Amino acid sequence: MSLQIMHIGLDDTDSKKGGCTTYLAALLIKELEQFKVHFIDYPLLIRLNPNVPWKTRGNGSLCLRFKYNVQYEEQIKETAINLWEEQSKFKEKGTDPGIVIYKSQTIPEELTAFSKKAETTIVKLKEALKLIKNVGAEAIGFNSCRGIIGALAAIGEILDADHTYELIAYRKQENIGTKRRVDEKSIFKMDEITAPYTFNNVDIEKNRIIITPRGPDPILFGIRGETANIVKEAFELVKTWEPIERWVIFRSNQGTDAHLKAIKDLSKITPYSSVIVKGIVSKNPRVIPVRHIIFSIKDDKKEVDCAAYEPTGNLRRIARELIVGDNLEVYGAIQKPKADKPWTINLEKIDVLNLAQKVTTENPLCPQCEKRLKSMGKNQGLRCEKCNSVFPNLKKIEKPVLRSVKNGLFITSTRSQRHLTKPFRRFGQEKKNYRNQSLISKWHSTSE
Ligand SMILES: [Zn+2]
Repeated sequence: MSLQIMHIGLDDTDSKKGGCTTYLAALLIKELEQFKVHFIDYPLLIRLNPNVPWKTRGNGSLCLRFKYNVQYEEQIKETAINLWEEQSKFKEKGTDPGIVIYKSQTIPEELTAFSKKAETTIVKLKEALKLIKNVGAEAIGFNSCRGIIGALAAIGEILDADHTYELIAYRKQENIGTKRRVDEKSIFKMDEITAPYTFNNVDIEKNRIIITPRGPDPILFGIRGETANIVKEAFELVKTWEPIERWVIFRSNQGTDAHLKAIKDLSKITPYSSVIVKGIVSKNPRVIPVRHIIFSIKDDKKEVDCAAYEPTGNLRRIARELIVGDNLEVYGAIQKPKADKPWTINLEKIDVLNLAQKVTTENPLCPQCEKRLKSMGKNQGLRCEKCNSVFPNLKKIEKPVLRSVKNGLFITSTRSQRHLTKPFRRFGQEKKNYRNQSLISKWHSTSE
């Protein structure tokens, strides 16, 4: 029996009207059982650059890696392609499904480099197609075929540094489109029990659960966490009032800040990328409709606007308190300038490095009777109301004001975090590697 390794990358089979690439992966995992494949990794759920203009909702792509018996090779490929075709909503505008099949014992470096690029910036289809040819992979796409980019990027992402897990539970077909029936109390309890090893279960600010998506997709809920075991444990704590059709544990770059790239200075910003960059506040915050906060930062090279939009919650409250001279490191997505709008960073995080001294001015006290002096008008000097002395040469004095904002890192509210945003709970839990760990005994299940 001759064993080979196959990697199948899938992307963008979902659309605004439902469907979900993770669900396709879940179905395929089950289908592949008939060929006795041996998974060498969890299915990967790879989020790509959230800042591309043509993304579908989450911009997620999937990769399955497994050992297989070469006698089944053609059947495996056919099964994957048929299922992908059947599940792809390729008749809908804006859906550009792609599938890439790659047979190889290892992942070449040029492929991992391509993935990093697709996570942080824009890559062209041409680039992907050239690479597919170079490494000898096979690809099929529909419509614009952009899905091939994501499918290839998922294969190239070996997630050998920081990573997380997500257990996704799916609904029965007949319930899709109806209100999700889950016991919210059990989810709050689950969060309490499994913290800090799971994250983004609930939005504390709004006191509501966020593991259930909205909309007509087949996902009932998804639990994100640090290990396969913890998301499974958390799953067992969640009560639902509707049946679960199947569930799968994915390994992922979600919650790792993989989309953010540190750049040296503001002149290095490029459209559609997401960056980490230092700057000094150069224009005080101003409120624009509807309740968004804009301020400017600059360095020696450039000045750009920073925007904290209303749903960023806590981040917006911090942004409002900043003043000229504050020293920051900002994290966010770059918006290309338009006629009426300069370069803008849509903020995800603000690290306040150093606060400028804020001062107010006040009149000094009367040197004779210590009563606060009154101003007599512009350049008219000061007068004491008690002893009637006039002091033409005394000036207002500056007084430091205590700042309400403190040094430290501030992150956009849970409900407005991107899939890739690293939440507070994960800080200090970042993983340095992933070495062919064996999978837990039960990492997926189907009810029928
Ligand atoms: Zn006086």
